[in-house]
Amino acid sequence: MKELMEGVTRFREHIYKEHEQKLQVLGREGQSPKTLMISCSDSRVVPELITQSLPGDLFVIRNAGNIVPPWQSINGGVTSTIEYAVVGLGVTDIVICGHADCGAMKAHFAPEGALDAMPSVKAWIGHSRAARDIVHACCAGAGDTEKLDRLVEENVTLQLTHLRSHPSVAAALASGKIRLHGWVFDIESGTIRAFDGRTRQFGPLSDGDTPPIAEGGLDRDTPKKAA
Ligand code: ZN
Repeated sequence: MKELMEGVTRFREHIYKEHEQKLQVLGREGQSPKTLMISCSDSRVVPELITQSLPGDLFVIRNAGNIVPPWQSINGGVTSTIEYAVVGLGVTDIVICGHADCGAMKAHFAPEGALDAMPSVKAWIGHSRAARDIVHACCAGAGDTEKLDRLVEENVTLQLTHLRSHPSVAAALASGKIRLHGWVFDIESGTIRAFDGRTRQFGPLSDGDTPPIAEGGLDRDTPKKAA
């Protein structure tokens, strides 16, 4: 806790002052973030750092494995927070961000019985079981690293599929109010690979590029047809 307390002091004495005006406005007037980011709880993946976001910019859900349970399978924090972000805040973009070397994904390759002491974790990562089965079916001859990298990507696209089962997201997609994105963050290189829904492939997210979209679009993205 010593490092944490030193950080609190440093924040109060230096960082807060840099953002004082913005924080005061946000505190008075409330938040209106445009993006919901769903990322892993892994301490090496910091959504605000990798997107250089400021207070008020990102609405964030973090959990082991950046998992979105299919709607109605659990009425818990993830489901409620997605609904609030889409309906209450009107976010225009949802990013599911997985990452390299993900412990939750590695757990799928753990020996039988390894998760017996963590039954809740075992049940939770069951929401990414289909991604694991895809890797088993398609990467039988691959090495461990290649399998894990593929699983991380398959998990992101699987969770995007689960995301579409949430009524608030389905309605926002149908009415052109939201875009879905699938990203994988590489910790060592600091780079991001993004899923392109048109090619069904992940590719490097380049500086300044318009990010590829997994699905959806905003009404204002497409010119209105003449009446
Ligand atoms: Zn992880």
